[in-house]
Amino acid sequence: ADVAEVVRTHLRDIPDFPTPGVVFKDFTPLIADGPAMKTLVMDIAGRYAGRVDVVVGIEARGFILGAAVAYELGLGMVPIRKAGKLPGQTLKESYSLEYGHAEIEVHTDAFEPGQRVLIIDDVLATGGTAEATAALVERAGAHVTAIEVVLELAFLGGRRRLGGRDVNAILTV
Ligand code: 5GP
Repeated sequence: ADVAEVVRTHLRDIPDFPTPGVVFKDFTPLIADGPAMKTLVMDIAGRYAGRVDVVVGIEARGFILGAAVAYELGLGMVPIRKAGKLPGQTLKESYSLEYGHAEIEVHTDAFEPGQRVLIIDDVLATGGTAEATAALVERAGAHVTAIEVVLELAFLGGRRRLGGRDVNAILTV
């Protein structure tokens, strides 16, 4: 099956979440479906085999996808978490959201110098989360090889914030 079509048919629109006027793309039907997840994970892993040393997953759905892809590639996964969750010494990035701001962290010793990193998340919206994640990875001494998202909301222009980076979206709307 075409992976984009598998993704499209397993996402669900939830109107007015988390705030009125927002249509939230719900990934739980995709994650709950074994064959759909297998198709998705194999597709992503195939793109990066031999090209990356470690996978970075962004809290929270990026943990689910990132762990599965890392396992398939035989690699480890480094979590990027909301501020205050990681127990060790961390680096922090702040970025603005539509309303308010957010802070994410990574452990200072998460990477070996120069490691090639694949960043994974479910949705690329405004790009703030991915941009801050790439900055954390680089501040921690690693190299961002690519950013992989399952769904890109192109009308929000997130890709523009990511400069010349290699950004791949399985499905774009
Ligand atoms: P951005 O920083 O690009 O504006 O937002 C991306 C982050 O917010 C991602 O970590 C993603 O998980 C979450 N996000 C934003 N919009 C949606 C959505 O419609 N569905 C899901 N599942 N996540 C979203």
